[in-house]
Amino acid sequence: MRPPAAAPRGGLMSRRKKIYEGKAKILYEGPEPGTIIQYFKDDATAFNAQKKAILEGKGVINNQISGFIMQNLNAIGVPTHYIKTMNMREQLVREVEIIPLEVVCRNVAAGSLSTRLGIEEGTPLPRSIIEFYYKKDELGDPMVAEEHITAFNWASTQEIDDLMALTLRVNDYLFGMFGAVGIKLVDFKLEFGRLYEGDMVRTVIADEISPDSARLWDVQTNEKMDKDRFRRDLGNVTEAYVEVARRLGIVKQAGISEVAG
Ligand code: C5P
Repeated sequence: MRPPAAAPRGGLMSRRKKIYEGKAKILYEGPEPGTIIQYFKDDATAFNAQKKAILEGKGVINNQISGFIMQNLNAIGVPTHYIKTMNMREQLVREVEIIPLEVVCRNVAAGSLSTRLGIEEGTPLPRSIIEFYYKKDELGDPMVAEEHITAFNWASTQEIDDLMALTLRVNDYLFGMFGAVGIKLVDFKLEFGRLYEGDMVRTVIADEISPDSARLWDVQTNEKMDKDRFRRDLGNVTEAYVEVARRLGIVKQAGISEVAG
């Protein structure tokens, strides 16, 4: 029997074992033990998935941006799960045990910090602030303190130190990298995993770093170039992501057709 018409892509993927499907990505078993293939979908969600859309080409561009950033972090000695980009939508990563925390780093007041504390969006913060959120969709990812993290064994004190030190290094690096191309790094979210290597366990950056997980504003105009365009119905979401990639030198043209493939 001939395979169905859509076989070339679907056929390849269906032979793989799906490990997990999240809101924006799918994880498949990788080619070797200890590896995973991370597939970037076009799905956009916000407000704990109450708002949903498909943004054509978003997965392609986030795969490129996140791969580029992770590769650079690996190169400067900040350990990440990233191994290599396989194709337009997939990257090969190391299998890790995800630490159930979202670590947010803020340089400028925006989003939930502005709402919660009444500090106007765009106000520079006197120093970078790190916050922890417990990764639990059913609870809407509540903010937690270090006390909760250690009391409930989500991470050890040593791991919390690692998370904070790595987050500050990422902030330093990304702040400079985006600043050099006229983009202000307002805030971003990181996820971490435990990488088991023999008897050793290392804390590494996992998931993705992209305009889905960071606030990026044009330095000149303060125009938003990130997922707030989707959350706040500002339009041209993918176009803004492509502009981020263009400025970073990842794609040559501003046209989405260059990357949407
Ligand atoms: O909403 P809030 O202001 O707390 O978000 C801070 C940063 O963390 C933003 O860059 C946002 O995109 C990111 N974030 C995320 N995933 C979440 C919550 C926030 O990537 N579940």
